[in-house]
Amino acid sequence: MRLSRYFLPVLKETPAEAQIASHRLMLRAGMIKQSSAGIYSWLPLGYKILKKIENIVHEEQVRAGHIPMLMPTLQSADLWKESGRYDAYGPEMLRIRDRQDRDMLYGPTNEEMITDIFRSYVRSYKDLPLTLYHIQWKFRDEIRPRFGVMRGREFLMKDGYTFDLTKEDALHAYNRHLVSYLRSYERMGLQAIPMRADSGPIGGDDTHEFLVLAETGESEVFYDSEITDLTFGEREIDYDSVEQCQAVMEEFTSRYARTDETHDEAVWADVPEDRRRVARGIEVGQIFYFGTKYSEPMGAVVQGPDGKQVPVHMGSHGIGVSRLMGAIIEANHDDKGIIWPEGVTPFDVGIVNLKSGDEEADAACEALYASFVKLGLDPLYDDRNERAGGKFATMDLIGLPWRITVGPRGLKNGVVELTSRRTGESEELPPEEAVAKIAAIYGKQ
Ligand code: ATP
Ligand code: MG
Repeated sequence: MRLSRYFLPVLKETPAEAQIASHRLMLRAGMIKQSSAGIYSWLPLGYKILKKIENIVHEEQVRAGHIPMLMPTLQSADLWKESGRYDAYGPEMLRIRDRQDRDMLYGPTNEEMITDIFRSYVRSYKDLPLTLYHIQWKFRDEIRPRFGVMRGREFLMKDGYTFDLTKEDALHAYNRHLVSYLRSYERMGLQAIPMRADSGPIGGDDTHEFLVLAETGESEVFYDSEITDLTFGEREIDYDSVEQCQAVMEEFTSRYARTDETHDEAVWADVPEDRRRVARGIEVGQIFYFGTKYSEPMGAVVQGPDGKQVPVHMGSHGIGVSRLMGAIIEANHDDKGIIWPEGVTPFDVGIVNLKSGDEEADAACEALYASFVKLGLDPLYDDRNERAGGKFATMDLIGLPWRITVGPRGLKNGVVELTSRRTGESEELPPEEAVAKIAAIYGKQ
């Protein structure tokens, strides 16, 4: 992309309404525009990153054997009356009446709808296990939408639903989700710690929330410091293996890590004092096993091996796709702007032309641009006729992890400058070597 042809409405001023860094930076970098409280338009740069996050979530769900689909945003109230949640949900649910006077709602979640789909088609235990998921906009009429996309009213969520014959199988599905979530967050450059959570109004026996540590997080968290040393890394996992998934589950959840809702002073006292940490965290996902809570009242039953009809064991598993963008920025920024991890960066590399209009500099930039495109990489070339200082400020603000600076002086010596956004370190090297280095970083050789 050439910046002169892109739509990147960066703001010079710091917007007064934004209280936290991620919200400020998303507005300043021209990523989002508020349309009404807690509802945003995703401008091209923000949209591009949203799609990257979404794509990582999709890839890791499919890798775990889970099946993508799509359910609508608007739902009929009838199913919610059946489950009993139409009255229970309260004012967070946006209720709508259509022209035929039918009660509708903008879905805050999809347990009822997926249970209805399941009971319409699945009859036998032989069709289990089954995990269906979608990534769809949700609406919750939050009393205090704030912090930009972190607590929106309209937000993008991945929600997956598991159907199993037994509790044991459902817990394998639970562990599978835990593993796939750890992988997803790490690919986004994030450490998200599974913490024992409270099942709240959805109800259930087992639930963990995934929290990213950040001062601006809304939850107070208590954890054993050993937990932050754990990484999932590059290990290969067989998602069908009950033992392998359970081993990961045990590894990542055996140390003390809880939100304030489940914090227990008596158990906490057993953690060695020098390892006790109290901090704040952002909830970026949650996994839930809730048994037959919906399948029973809604008649989601299958014929078991013994011929008897039994309600299926269910779980629901969510990732806050749009909130993640805020969480990633909270964890990766400095006073100049965002610092994208390579896994989610909107463009792989920025090219800054120090002297647009100079024949040699223009040609060198064009050649770099063409080389990256040929390698399947996605460069952003600042070809505008602007001061170098302004170009650097824009690149730092939007946070591409790598920048190549091209100017007549360097070109005389046959070199360009390659700069890491994270460390600020630069090196001079011939253009071909700069390309090779970037290609290697993104595994494109
Ligand atoms: P919270 O406690 O933050 O209100 P929740 O526990 O009610 O969230 P879930 O039902 O667990 O939310 O939804 C799954 C995920 O969707 C959450 O882990 C979170 O990342 C995201 N999410 C929930 N509410 C919002 C919101 N208002 N704006 C953005 N993301 C949200
Ligand atoms: Mg939750």
